[in-house]
Formats: sequence, C-alpha cells, structure tokens
Amino acid sequence: MIPYGRQSIDDSDLAAVADVLRGEWLTTGPTVDRFEAAIADYVGARASIAVNSGTSALHVAYAAAEISPGDEVVTTPLTFVATAATAAMQGARIVFADIDETTGNLSLDAARAAVTSRTRAITAVDYAGVPVDGTAFMRLARESDALFIEDAAHAIGSTRDGRRVGEQADITTFSFFPTKNLTTAEGGAVVALDPDVELRGRRFRNHGLVRERDLLRWPDEGAWHQEVHSFGLNYRLPDVLAALGLSQLRRLGSFKLRRAEVRGLYDDAFSNVEGLRIPGCPTGAEPVWHLYPLRVPADRRREIFDKLRAAGIGVQVNYMPVYWHPVFEDLGYKRGLCPIAESYYRQEISLPMYAGLTDSQVAQVIEAVLKVVEK
Ligand SMILES: *Cc1c(COP(=O)(O)O)cnc(C)c1O
Repeated sequence: MIPYGRQSIDDSDLAAVADVLRGEWLTTGPTVDRFEAAIADYVGARASIAVNSGTSALHVAYAAAEISPGDEVVTTPLTFVATAATAAMQGARIVFADIDETTGNLSLDAARAAVTSRTRAITAVDYAGVPVDGTAFMRLARESDALFIEDAAHAIGSTRDGRRVGEQADITTFSFFPTKNLTTAEGGAVVALDPDVELRGRRFRNHGLVRERDLLRWPDEGAWHQEVHSFGLNYRLPDVLAALGLSQLRRLGSFKLRRAEVRGLYDDAFSNVEGLRIPGCPTGAEPVWHLYPLRVPADRRREIFDKLRAAGIGVQVNYMPVYWHPVFEDLGYKRGLCPIAESYYRQEISLPMYAGLTDSQVAQVIEAVLKVVEK
C-alpha cells in the first residue's frame, strides 16, 4: 500500500538521534535549545517553544492567548479536531465559519461575519500547506480586538507573498507528526510575535513553573526553590526527538521541492479530467504541499475511495467537518452550519503526498485514479 503520507528518514537522521542517545540528556537539554533556535530562525521568529505534539502546540497557544470561559474562538471546520478541541478545553465557545471554496482555507469574509464582541481569537489553518492571507487576517484580528492564531500543522516551510509561515500571525503552531512536512515522531512548536504571550506559552508548557529570582513570591526559600503562579502542563519535547527535528529541518528544503514536483505531476494528470478538481493555490503562495486534496464527484467519492484503497493506494479524507464529531453535535452544533466545508468534505480524497514518493509510485497513483474515475 502506498500511504497518503509518511516520514522520510535517512542516515543523517539516525546518526543525529543516536548521538543524543549516547549523551547526557534524554529530555530537556541543549538539543531542545538548539532545535528551538533553528525553528525560530527557519520561520523568521524571535524564538520558538518546542512541545510534544501539534495538539499541545495549539493548547499552549490558547493558554498563552488567555482564552477562558465566555470567550469565543472563530475557526474553520475543515481541520483536524484538535484546532477546535484545545480551545474548547480552555472553556471557549467555538464559532465555526465557512471555508474558501478553492483552497479549503477559512474564508476571511465568513470569519469577519462570525466575529462578536466576545471573540478573543481567530484561528485559521493552512489547509494542505497553502498559507492563508496573513495580512488580511491580522487586520481582521486587530479590528476585532482578537488574536490571529495560525494552525500551521500543514505548513512549516510555506511562504505567502515572500513572508514565511511563522511571521504572519500573532501565534503560529506547528506539528511534527510523521505525516507532516518534517517529523520528530510526536512533536510541535509555537512561535508568538508578542514576547509576553510567548513567555506565558513557555511557562504553560512546563507546569507554569517560575524560577527567575526577581519574580518569586518567596525568593529566600533556598536554591532549590521554584513556584507555580498559574497552572500548566508537561508538554516538553525530549532532546532525543529534538535531535531528529534538527536533522529533519536541514532536509525540509529538499522535501519542499519534491512535494512540489509531485503536486505538478498530479496537476498535469488531473486538471483536464471531467469531474476532477485539483487543489487551488492563490498567486504569491509557495506551499510545502502537505496534502494533495483532489475533489471528485460527491456521489462517487465513497466508491472511488474504496476502489483506490483496494488498488493499493492509501488514500485518506481530510477532513470531516469538525462540528460533525459527536462531542460537538452533543453541544448543539447542527449539520448544515458551514455548507461549503460540508460539500468540500463530501468530494475530497487526499492522494499520496510525501517527499519519498518515487516517480513510478506517482505514475501508479495517477493510473489508478484515472482508471477508477473514468470507469
Ligand atoms: C496534525 C494536526 C494537528 C495536531 O497535531 P498532532 O501533532 O498530531 O497533535 C492539528 N491541526 C492540524 C490541522 C493538523 O493537521
């Protein structure tokens, strides 16, 4: 089976991990510091916070934004559930706004219409790796007295109008799950424009612990002393995994090129086929293609999906609208809320997309799709 996504691990990755395993630090140590600096440098941020998943990155973001009960968070339904679930766990009410029909990204107009006086954050997702228009979302956030959060789980390495994903939002979160653009097995990172927001995130990742002497309530307790001033969790990324991340980050440029080639091959094969729609990409966007979301006729999606799986093509569907999950349905969210996202979902099939795909595998996928679609 050719999977829809998978990691690319080479000898340089193995050597980097083995090096750290032989050393002093397994968990938080100097490799995490180096990884955080390298991520920050890569995405154009002052600093980054390494965490142990993209989900914890989102939770850190909402905690750092001080999202709390009574607040509203406007977001897209065409995403992995964690984008909304982590805000809900902070007590926020999630307000789903519909998507842009071509890219699958949160629609700026729909987000604007969903803003109320209680909106504290607007969270967009760079679906498939295609960056949202950060300038426009930042303007909307400022007008709305809210923060703009970019869930860039799909999009580390992507740029829009020359700006890197990581430079264009108040808070940007990344995931390093194996199918993502680079991997640490499990892992993620957060960057923030405002140093105070970043500091709150950094503390939240590590139990809320305060160690700076001038901030302690009881500074003379002893050299061992540390205090918790606000609740946090243990979302730390181990040094062993940071080593893998550092090594992967060096390879991200080549991953980006290969993913773009695969996208080009798919686009050429499918752009003129009756009933198929290739993913849209605004001018000025240079994605790292995390997914290749092909759209097929809704009434044939199930059949095409099943036949591709049977033919050894490990297709996936990204995503069922988040509010269809029973946990949201039980909170009163109704089907029909975001019709464009629902129709996108009904047509979508993610084709295999990863850096290690060979030309012959791509040809195999194309042949299988054309055969199944054209019957
Ligand atoms: C993968 C993903 C997440 C969660 O990341 P994990 O590392 O799997 O916890 C969040 N949002 C989106 C859009 C994702 O694709």
